[in-house]
Amino acid sequence: MESLKAKKLRDEWGTKPCNHPKLEKEYYADTHTLDYVCNQCGKEFSVLEMLETRETQRKKRKMMV
Ligand SMILES: [Zn+2]
Repeated sequence: MESLKAKKLRDEWGTKPCNHPKLEKEYYADTHTLDYVCNQCGKEFSVLEMLETRETQRKKRKMMV
């Protein structure tokens, strides 16, 4: 996702809670910024935060099954 689009998402999303269902690579022009963004709320994640969030969600899904 374009970093400008992510910023727009963040502005539109405001302060609502989000469980960050899907994280995408963030791009500036055609270059990966090395960050990830939630495609729902636009929050930015570092690679480490992205991995932690994915791991947390994986555990949550496991618990629900
Ligand atoms: Zn989110």
